[in-house]
Amino acid sequence: MSAAVSDDRVVVALDVGGTGMKCALVRPDGVVVRTERHPTDAARGPAAVLGTILDVAGGLADKARADGLTPIAVGIAVPGVVDEVRGVAVWSANVGFRDVPLRDLAVQRLGLPTALGHDVRAGGLAEARLGAGRGTGHVLFVAIGTGIAAAHVVDGTAAVGAHGAAGEIGHILVRPDGPRCGCGRPGCLEAVASAAAIGRRYAELAGDTADAPVTAAEVADRAAAGEPLAGQVWQEAIEALADGLASGQALFDVATVVLGGGLAQAGDRLLTPLRAALHERMTFHREPQLVAAALGDEAGCLGAALLALDAVGVRDHQEKR
Ligand SMILES: [Zn+2]
Repeated sequence: MSAAVSDDRVVVALDVGGTGMKCALVRPDGVVVRTERHPTDAARGPAAVLGTILDVAGGLADKARADGLTPIAVGIAVPGVVDEVRGVAVWSANVGFRDVPLRDLAVQRLGLPTALGHDVRAGGLAEARLGAGRGTGHVLFVAIGTGIAAAHVVDGTAAVGAHGAAGEIGHILVRPDGPRCGCGRPGCLEAVASAAAIGRRYAELAGDTADAPVTAAEVADRAAAGEPLAGQVWQEAIEALADGLASGQALFDVATVVLGGGLAQAGDRLLTPLRAALHERMTFHREPQLVAAALGDEAGCLGAALLALDAVGVRDHQEKR
């Protein structure tokens, strides 16, 4: 719609995690002109984290101006429950936020239009518009790490939900008799198939023979090397993920499922058996393409930039289909 070659506009983008903040200045065409990383240091408490977010965003806007660029908006992605309409970080265990009106605080401090988003939805937005789901219209992005969360993106917009809590695919019930989830209920997908759950399950079954704690990546390696116990644990996780994704497909009928988060780094060790298990579960539903995320841990920050651009009505030709 816009974006001439001489465009000097940039947005300030921050992806705030429990341990670190990924920050960038991004042009309307999606090109990143500066990146920074800062520690979140959430143990300092929510007020200090908030102060750092505003300082870092203000600092990036100043650096843009010093380089002759024009900051036009700010996008901030945070974890937890995020009310994107009101711009409120409703609840985030990782950074200690409870009902923080982050958008208005940023507007007051920075004097720029600001969009507040959810980290996984922002990552899904970026994968759908700029990454592995580009050009396919209907995308389910599933981030598998310590937990499991998803973003359903249709034509470049991620569904937020009535209460800011859409996409909690990790809490689909897949094993009623399974391990208790962090949410309190037994058998949620993320209690069975998150990276953390896979490590726990392996340790549980290995019992006294366990040496050191084993990560999900090591379980994948050991399974590939033919260790029966690792193979069993890995396959259990694959089956549970396939159950969760089949539910997702029944609800959303997407063209592409993009898998991100730490577990997706297992690559074909994850994708190949998961495609087969998902295929088995499809009856009349159309099978989605299952692909690995393309943007790595930059996705949330790029998604925050897209939210900022959307907030000021700038959507570049680069992502048109
Ligand atoms: Zn749960």
